[in-house]
Amino acid sequence: QSQELSQAHIDYHVALQALQEHGTHMVCTGKMHTDRICRFDYLCYCSEAEEFVFFHSNSSVMLPNLGSRRFQPALLDLSSVEDHNTQYFNFLELPAAALKFMPKPVFVPDVTLILNRFNPDNLMHVFHDDLLPAFYTMKQYSDLGDEARLVFMEGWGEGPHFDLYRLLSGKQPLLKEQLKNFGKLMCFTKSYVGLSKMTTWYQYGFVQPQGPKANILVSGNEVRQFARALMDKMNITRADEVEKDGGDTEEGKEKVKKDDYIVVFSRSTTRLILNEAELIMALAQEFQMRVVTVSLEEQSFPSIIQVISGASMLVSMHGAQLITSLFLPRGAAVVELFPFAVNPEQYTPYKTLASLPGMDLHYISWRNTKEENTITHPDRPWEQGGIAHLEKEEKERILASKDVPRHLCCRNPEWLFRIYQDTMVDIPSFLEVLNEGRKTKPSLKKSKPASTVHPGRVREPQCQTTVQTTNEAKLTVSWQIPWNLKYLKVREVKYEVWIQEQGENTYMPYILPQHNYTFSENIKPFTTYLVWVRCIFNKNLLGPFADVLMCRT
Ligand code: UDP
Repeated sequence: QSQELSQAHIDYHVALQALQEHGTHMVCTGKMHTDRICRFDYLCYCSEAEEFVFFHSNSSVMLPNLGSRRFQPALLDLSSVEDHNTQYFNFLELPAAALKFMPKPVFVPDVTLILNRFNPDNLMHVFHDDLLPAFYTMKQYSDLGDEARLVFMEGWGEGPHFDLYRLLSGKQPLLKEQLKNFGKLMCFTKSYVGLSKMTTWYQYGFVQPQGPKANILVSGNEVRQFARALMDKMNITRADEVEKDGGDTEEGKEKVKKDDYIVVFSRSTTRLILNEAELIMALAQEFQMRVVTVSLEEQSFPSIIQVISGASMLVSMHGAQLITSLFLPRGAAVVELFPFAVNPEQYTPYKTLASLPGMDLHYISWRNTKEENTITHPDRPWEQGGIAHLEKEEKERILASKDVPRHLCCRNPEWLFRIYQDTMVDIPSFLEVLNEGRKTKPSLKKSKPASTVHPGRVREPQCQTTVQTTNEAKLTVSWQIPWNLKYLKVREVKYEVWIQEQGENTYMPYILPQHNYTFSENIKPFTTYLVWVRCIFNKNLLGPFADVLMCRT
């Protein structure tokens, strides 16, 4: 043990000397504060001032060096929510010489990821804003491995889902509050600050009404790999994979059939389904399946995920618990219920998730259209949808309205009033929506998941031209198949050819099954045409265009 101590002693002096001589090093990715993640050596945190500190010396590095643009508005977003003004990161600067006059720093030896959780009380936010982004930020920087230290700087307590954050690494995450226990000055030997936004699919309506992000960059594949990693950490045997193993034999198929079940995710405090028992009976009867209920109030999170990971259908009121649909097996259905006056098309975090390419989930929404089937709660506190505090006219307007108009986050009283209603689900209309949904979407469990391999460029594109008469000409375009096609089994291979007369703004597009074609319509003699060719697999997987051809008739 004495050896360990002396080792630590030596490390301490090496570290202190390095900090004093070299100061802080920072190198970042990203052009803007909204897409930036920074890597630091010797980033320090002063718990008294509640500020991070960058120490300048002759050999410190600061890239990007933004000057005072660092404050316009910040160096980076500390949470995955874009450009939220409560989530900005910056540091103070000091000369390394000031260390002489400061408390002795405590060094954190672990590679550390520093971030803000956005709303750790809400399960949807936990997954979408924190867990998925942190998981893939850790994949992006390989030294953020299984033993990385996470530091949450938003300033909240652990919250109800802290066990989920613990799954990200073998080391206990630290909260801002706990940093002062390490002393007045704490220096992270190696750290990353910020979160990747690559996996987020939803914007919550801070600047425009909520909806899917404009440029979604994640597919179901990455969401499912994250889900699988989390399930492994929770020691959950994946019900969907067990099924698949037995699926090829008759006996196996029998078993799969018998094991099909529906999960109703119930909420017990707000936004209730008032006739849950009736709903469950109707589902069991209609689908001839077992129906299981789960709720966050009654089961542990892992036991809920165990159940959901084998379900054929997940039925729930709109709400954060629906984020658990990311643990459903491929081919399952997500059925989301909406209270009276709430338009399902305007609140789509779970629809967007289910519809990510490769997620392979069926999404169906049902909406209560019968006002007599809703129970409102005007006298509750405003954050649970109460409207007692409002002016009489405003109250009356809200009570008369049958549709919440589009609005911004987060305190719109009409939205809160409607979304916190309890609902008596009208069984005939509910079953009708379900059966409609099933008709339009064939069972994915049977069809093979669609390939996502895109064609390469077509090779050796060429054109030949002939002039027939003074106003007739021919243009023959030919090419070779993309290089990767010879290794693939593709159901349908087509080619798209665009022909544009030089100097014109428009072009003629053609879809062709073969790899050469002679065009004669609309082809004029003594004219230059620009020709682009690309390959298309299965109608919608587009390849890149080959270099443009210049063809003179
Ligand atoms: N919650 C729950 N049961 C309830 C009400 C809420 O488990 O009866 C959970 C919900 O899943 C979420 C958190 O409590 O994780 C906050 O719920 P809230 O209604 O504020 O948010 P929403 O579900 O609308 O996102």
